[in-house]
Amino acid sequence: MVKSTSRLRILDHDLRTLTQRSGNRCAICKRLLTADSSPPDREVILGDVSHIVAYEPDGPRGDSSLTSRERHKYDNLILLCNTHNRLVDSQPQTYTVEKLHSIKDAHESWVEETLGKRIPYERPQLSYKVDTIYSTLLPLQELPAYIYGVPCSLRVEAEVQAMMTPLRKVRSSMSDELEMAPFLLRGGYLYAFQDLNEPDNPFKPLVPGQSAERYRVGEWWGDPDYMRWYVDLLNRALNKDSVLSSGGKATVASCLC
Ligand SMILES: [Zn+2]
Repeated sequence: MVKSTSRLRILDHDLRTLTQRSGNRCAICKRLLTADSSPPDREVILGDVSHIVAYEPDGPRGDSSLTSRERHKYDNLILLCNTHNRLVDSQPQTYTVEKLHSIKDAHESWVEETLGKRIPYERPQLSYKVDTIYSTLLPLQELPAYIYGVPCSLRVEAEVQAMMTPLRKVRSSMSDELEMAPFLLRGGYLYAFQDLNEPDNPFKPLVPGQSAERYRVGEWWGDPDYMRWYVDLLNRALNKDSVLSSGGKATVASCLC
């Protein structure tokens, strides 16, 4: 199992749901996973959020068709104490995927019976408010529906720009437009609106042979950090548009909502 320090972060609502449904106890020994503070010492976390199918394909029970994102979901997570986390990782033949799911289900049923009420799995609720903006913001009629991410060893954006395929001109009925390719480098990944699995995407020279993951934008909106990244990426698209507008209109070449 790999802890939640993997490259992509486990979303808060998945962690919260797991902790609530598990009663903050190990799914095997039912030990409470926090020890009270003993001033001046702080409270101690005694457990791990662990993956049933490992985050890395070569980890315990890692041979699976689940995507990296699916491996970080509540359905693939189990709460264990430090001792049992080490045990299930050391004995993957004994603690199979099926067995761990069975242990998790039985434990959550036990928590439900103990508490008398099962804690619902709550999807994050996005809050909206109506506001009026007076600014030079560009109007947006459509948003990209997907973000693509691929592992990338480069850490400097100028290096990415130097290696990218030159942007293409895209013909439209009105004029020639330049395809735009905003991107972000975060946590060892390159994120972009372009389908990074397409053979002619502009980032192909950077990550040859790498398979990209696709995320629905709504999935990112549920997490504050990912939401910030999404806004950064969108702002880059708009800035690019304003830069290119002197020589022609730019367009985002990606799937739209
Ligand atoms: Zn335990």
